[in-house]
Amino acid sequence: MIASIDDKDRIFTNIYGFQDWGVDGAMKRGDWDNTKDLMIRGQDQIIEDIKASGLRGRGGAGFPTGMKWSFMPKESKPGKPSFLLINADESEPGSCKDREILRHDPHKLLEGALIAGFAMRARAAYIYIRGEFIREAENLFAAVAQAYDKGLLGKNAAGSGYDFDVFVHRGAGAYICGEETAQIESLEGKKGQPRLKPPFPAGVGLFGCPTTVNNVESIAVVPTILRRGPSWFAGIGRDKNQGTKLFQISGHVNNPTVVEEAMGISFRELVDKHAGGIRGGWDNLLAVIPGGSSVPLVPAAQIIDAPMDFDGLREVGSGLGTAAIIVMDKSTDIVRAISRISYFYKHESCGQCTPCREGTGWMWRVMERLRTGEAEMHEIDMLHEVTKQVEGHTICALGDAAAWPIQGLIKHFRPEIERRISDFRSDMAVAAE
Ligand code: SF4
Repeated sequence: MIASIDDKDRIFTNIYGFQDWGVDGAMKRGDWDNTKDLMIRGQDQIIEDIKASGLRGRGGAGFPTGMKWSFMPKESKPGKPSFLLINADESEPGSCKDREILRHDPHKLLEGALIAGFAMRARAAYIYIRGEFIREAENLFAAVAQAYDKGLLGKNAAGSGYDFDVFVHRGAGAYICGEETAQIESLEGKKGQPRLKPPFPAGVGLFGCPTTVNNVESIAVVPTILRRGPSWFAGIGRDKNQGTKLFQISGHVNNPTVVEEAMGISFRELVDKHAGGIRGGWDNLLAVIPGGSSVPLVPAAQIIDAPMDFDGLREVGSGLGTAAIIVMDKSTDIVRAISRISYFYKHESCGQCTPCREGTGWMWRVMERLRTGEAEMHEIDMLHEVTKQVEGHTICALGDAAAWPIQGLIKHFRPEIERRISDFRSDMAVAAE
């Protein structure tokens, strides 16, 4: 089992905002320290180092970050500069890690943007920040201004000889703009609706130019990985599940928190050590949604000793996602909880493709009937069948995100759904007498 990390191995040393988030505080913590020396290694070497570190995208999909960067062209065509787009639209229910970086450690993100942008031969980075993030946006705008004032961004950024700009763009609160191609559409001033892929953004992205979209945490960890060496990062966690990760623990724990820990730490250790244990004790745990609302729930018995990483959670039929861990104790109305999530996805569907536009509403309405018990028994299987018709048949992953929580509920809590239907019938029969 993977052990908890020491403080010296934490990348985000101001995640709780106890110190100055501005450029002076950031420099005291080691950010922007000889950034140009990291860049002197060269673009290809930086990409190789990130590949060797084992870093996988922290936005949910877990695609290897270095490999993603290597898809970008090494030579720009005339009039087609490359761009880095940093996804700060954090909207997945349960996720609250990027906001801590944005408001308490924004210079880690900006330094990472410069280095990552340089490695991908990008002309500039755009940071697309969620519209509801008010204080986070204020700090981010201020941090960008500080970086320009100190010559860390702009012409000859950080004395590296490389010109690099950073632009911050505020979203307007649509969940789907967290999807990379919808985000590109929105940034271009159009309605935020996902594009069909291919072409992928590395070929045709922002303004028709090569673009890589990365999550905030994925970019913010880059300078520390390069400073401490890829083998340091790769030495934490398990094979193919390396490094540290910001876990967000919410729900029925004694102390909800955001904490940086080793990938692969067990759920029990993570919660006991950082969140004060389960409310009412471990026997009171009902189920956990381990990666944000779009992944299937895992019942208590299966999650307690599971390693919290990509492979560990896949083995229990769920996923790490953004590592947004929603803990539910036995006081939870689990059918109602999943029905509420279904409503969220119905509300956030962009309406472009039929299985999602019609299916999310249909699934939510049946979920509500299951919640009250007014449904027929055969509707449980019918609902499951419809989730399979939606899953994998849509332009973007929102269809899957709407289907998986329901599949998890039926797989693990079918007796509870059946009990509700039986109880409702008994009540009706008594009322009719
Ligand atoms: Fe829009 Fe849903 Fe289709 Fe995604 S799956 S493109 S959100 S309709």
